[in-house]
Amino acid sequence: MVSSVNAHASILAPQEHNVSMRIDLHCHSGVSDGTDSPAELIVAAAAAELDAVAITDHDTFAGVAEAKAAGRVHGVEVLGGIEITCESGGVTVHLLGYGADPDHTGLAEALRVVRQGRDERVPRIVAALDAAGVGVTLDDVLDQARPGTTLGRPHVADALVANGEVSDRQQAFDRWLDVGRPGYIGHEKIDLASGIALVRAAGGVAVLAHPWGRESRTVLTVRAIAELARAGLDGLEVDHQLHDAQTRSELRRVALAYDLIVTGGSDYHGTGKVNHDLGCNLTTEAGYRMILRRVGSGRA
Ligand code: AMP
Ligand code: FE
Ligand code: FE
Ligand code: ZN
Repeated sequence: MVSSVNAHASILAPQEHNVSMRIDLHCHSGVSDGTDSPAELIVAAAAAELDAVAITDHDTFAGVAEAKAAGRVHGVEVLGGIEITCESGGVTVHLLGYGADPDHTGLAEALRVVRQGRDERVPRIVAALDAAGVGVTLDDVLDQARPGTTLGRPHVADALVANGEVSDRQQAFDRWLDVGRPGYIGHEKIDLASGIALVRAAGGVAVLAHPWGRESRTVLTVRAIAELARAGLDGLEVDHQLHDAQTRSELRRVALAYDLIVTGGSDYHGTGKVNHDLGCNLTTEAGYRMILRRVGSGRA
């Protein structure tokens, strides 16, 4: 009896395995701090044998149309998304929004304010670095990004690399730009609960990005996640490079307990981040389908 069940399973399992989609729901392009254009990102995704990706640039949907057009050419499904810089208890929390309408007035206005705050922050970072004896100008930073890009610390890091001050982005963060370092300046963020509400109001699906990576771990307690789930949070990005194996299994349990969708993504930034290759973390097809159903459902 047991062996006949196993025989049955062995007929189905390999086939199921072969047809499973490879889905990466966290990727950046050059409209924020990635180094590939949106179209190049999709070419790289096809080369990495991904079937579906979400483009999730920081605080902007500017790359979505180009990525979708490239997706049609290269046979990669593209889910439009965003990674919104939010704040909870004074700490930065990143929120992924899938399938949200970029033209939703409330969401668009909130994102405009965040991007403006980012632009205004760059000269302050430059001044802070100058005070610490590091020579870099505003123009040096702006040279690292095309107009319209969501500006951030990675562009300052690139300017420091170009000046020969540091050898790579990571060294720039470790020495100068990380929280607590001389060049660290915060910026305008969206309250996390408001961010979730805005993503939902815009018809999107709200997922906490790397909830237990970096400082967000301190505020996203199990209790806080439970409360956010009641307030409309859809999912948790469990499989992310900032989470070790134990963190992933604990987060998976939290997701199960509060009926949250589990996702995974590479947080690819092109050459801007090592150890974040496309497809290094994946979302299951079941999770992806659940997100697509919610995007299409018109719930708000
Ligand atoms: P910003 O939004 O301008 O504060 O910059 C945040 C971005 O910088 C993140 O999206 C990451 O890509 C990168 N980043 C943040 N912290 C670090 C860190 N400690 N080491 C390397 N990259 C980081
Ligand atoms: Fe980034
Ligand atoms: Fe992030
Ligand atoms: Zn990201």
